[in-house]
Amino acid sequence: MLSSGKQILMDAKQKGRCIPQFNINNLEWVKAIMETFSILDYPVILGVSESSIKYMGGYNTVVGLVEGLIKDLKINIPIILHLDHGSSIESCIKAIDSGFTSVMIDASSYDIDTNIEITSKVVDYAKHKDVMVEGEIGHIGGSEDGIKSNITYTNVLDAIRYVNETNIDLLAPAIGNKHGVKDLEPQLNIDLLKELNEKIKIPLVLHGGSGISDEQLIKTIENGINKININTELQVEWSKKVKEYIINNNEVYDPRKIIGAGIPAIKDIIIKKSNIFITNKR
Ligand SMILES: [Zn+2]
Repeated sequence: MLSSGKQILMDAKQKGRCIPQFNINNLEWVKAIMETFSILDYPVILGVSESSIKYMGGYNTVVGLVEGLIKDLKINIPIILHLDHGSSIESCIKAIDSGFTSVMIDASSYDIDTNIEITSKVVDYAKHKDVMVEGEIGHIGGSEDGIKSNITYTNVLDAIRYVNETNIDLLAPAIGNKHGVKDLEPQLNIDLLKELNEKIKIPLVLHGGSGISDEQLIKTIENGINKININTELQVEWSKKVKEYIINNNEVYDPRKIIGAGIPAIKDIIIKKSNIFITNKR
C-alpha cells in the first residue's frame, strides 16, 4: 500500500532527516527505485511530472503500476506517490482522486495573492484525504520538461505569509537551486535557507538536486531541507548507458534489453546518493 507522506515528513523534520524524491518515467524506473530503496531500508518519494503521467497513460495507470509493483515485489518500505509541479487545481484533484498520496501545486509563476488562493484550494481538497501538499514561493527556474524559466529568490516575509495562509505541509523555496542540466554548479544561498528554517516550522524541499555537490546537499539537510528532488542526473546516466549499449550491440532488438541497459546506472546513482540521505539514518 502507498504511504501517506505527512507523518514521515514531520518525523524527518523533527529528526533532521531527509527523504529523497526520485522522478519516474516508466515501469523500469519504478522497479529500479523501489528495489534499491528496499535494500537501503529507507522511505522514498516517487515523483511524477504531468508530462510523465501523460506519457504513461494517465493518473490511474501510474497509481495502478506503483501499487501493483509494491504488492508483486513485496515492498515493505514506505513509498509515497507524489505529483511533481502540479500546474492547476484540476490536475492536483485528479491525482488525489486517483490515489496519489502527495501533490505539489506550483502556482509560483502567479503573484502571491493568486498563488495563495490556488494553493489554499488544493490544501482544502487534500486535507480530507490525508494527502500531503507541497507549494512553491519565489520561483526555482532552470529547465524542466523543455520549459525554461528564471530564478526568483524566495522572499522570507512572503514565505511566512504563504505558509500561514495556505496551511501547506511542505514548502519548496528558491535559494539558488535550478532544474535540469547545469553548466556550472549553482551556489546555494544557505543564509536564506537558515532564515527560512528558523521562521517556518514545516519541512522544506530542495528542487533541482542533480548537479549539486554532496557537500552542498549535506549543508542543506543540516539547515532544514527534509526532501531533495533528483531527476535529471538519473536521466543523463541512463541515456548514456543505453546509447553505449546500442552502439556495442547493434544486432539486439529486444526492447527489454535496450531499456534495461540503463537500469544499473540508475541503481548506482541512488546507492551513491544514499550516503547523503542515510548517513546513520541522520
Ligand atoms: Zn522541481
